[in-house]
Amino acid sequence: MDQPVLHPQIAAAYRVLETGEPISHAEALLLAELPGELALDLASLANKVKNRYGSGSEALHACSIMNAKSGVCGENCRFCAQSRHNRADIEVYDLVDAESVLIEARNCFSAGVSHFGIVTSGYGYKRINPEFQRVLDMIDRLHAELPELSVCASLGMLGEEPAAALAAHGIAHYNINIQVAPDRYSELIADTHSVEERIETIKLLRKNNISVCCGGIMGVGETMKDRIAMIFALQELDVSVIPLNVLVPIEGTPLAGKEPVSVAEIVKTFAICRLAHPHKVIKFAAGRETIMKDFQGLLMLSGANGYLTGGYLTTRGRDIADDQRFARQIATFN
Ligand code: SF4
Repeated sequence: MDQPVLHPQIAAAYRVLETGEPISHAEALLLAELPGELALDLASLANKVKNRYGSGSEALHACSIMNAKSGVCGENCRFCAQSRHNRADIEVYDLVDAESVLIEARNCFSAGVSHFGIVTSGYGYKRINPEFQRVLDMIDRLHAELPELSVCASLGMLGEEPAAALAAHGIAHYNINIQVAPDRYSELIADTHSVEERIETIKLLRKNNISVCCGGIMGVGETMKDRIAMIFALQELDVSVIPLNVLVPIEGTPLAGKEPVSVAEIVKTFAICRLAHPHKVIKFAAGRETIMKDFQGLLMLSGANGYLTGGYLTTRGRDIADDQRFARQIATFN
C-alpha cells in the first residue's frame, strides 16, 4: 500500500511538534488556506504541541472574572454592551465594594478556580485616583483572605504610576486585549482610543514585570489574514496568556446580527495560534457556549489549554462545576 503523502503545509506543524519552535508568519498564512477537511488534522497536531509544550503544570487553566464596574464607558468598542455609544440593555453600576468582590472570589476559589480577575469598564487609569486606590485595596484584601488565589485585573489603559502600583500589590496577570490585527483596530473595534495606547500599556506592564494576558476577538469582520497578523503581533509583544474570544453579537451594538464565523475557521485559528505560540497559555473565552455550542470541546483539543469559566462581563457562561466535569473529560485526551 502507498504511504500517505504528508500535506506540505502540515509538515510545518510537525516541525513545531519536534522542535518546539514556532511556525513563521508565512507558514501560518499557508496553514490558513488548508481545506476544511484537513482542519482536524491540524487541530490534532496543535493538541499534541499543547500537550508537549503548553505552559504550566495544570492541564487546563481555569479562570473567572468579576465585572466590578459595569457600563457607561465612554469608549466606542463596537462589540461591547458596556459602551455608552451603544444601546444594549445591561445592568449599570459603579465600582462595587470590596466585600462583594471577596464573596465572589471566595465562591470561585472554593469551586476550584485558581485565578480571579477584577474587571472594570472604562478607558482606564492614567493616575492613581480614589477609585483605582479602592481596586488596590480590594487586591490586598483578596491576598490577605485567600492567599492561594491568584488575583488578576483588567482595568483598561494604564499610566506609569498605576502600572507600578499593580506590580507592588502583587497582581498575577493583567488583561488588556489588542482584539484584532493592529492596523484594523480603528476600523473594526474602536476609534475613541488607539491600539497604540493599548500597546503602550502592555509595554508598561512588561517594564514592571507584570505578566500580560492579551488576545483578541473573532467574528467582528476580520479576515483569516488579519487574525494571523494579530497572532504574530502578540508574539512580538511577548504576552504570557492569550485569551481568544468569539463574538457574541449583542442587541443594541453595531455588531448585532453579525453572521457567525464557521466552526472550522475558529478551530484553524486556535490551532495556528498554538503553533505560533507553542509554550503559552491559550484560553477560550467568550463564545465558547453560545457560538461553539456542540463543538466547544473541540477547541480544547485544537491547542487551547485554558478557559474562562462561570460567565463573562455581560453574558452568562456555564457553571464552574459543569466546566470542571468537562475539563476532566478533556484531560483523558492528553
Ligand atoms: S471594551 Fe472596555 S473600553 Fe471598550 S467599550 Fe467596553 S468597557 Fe469600554
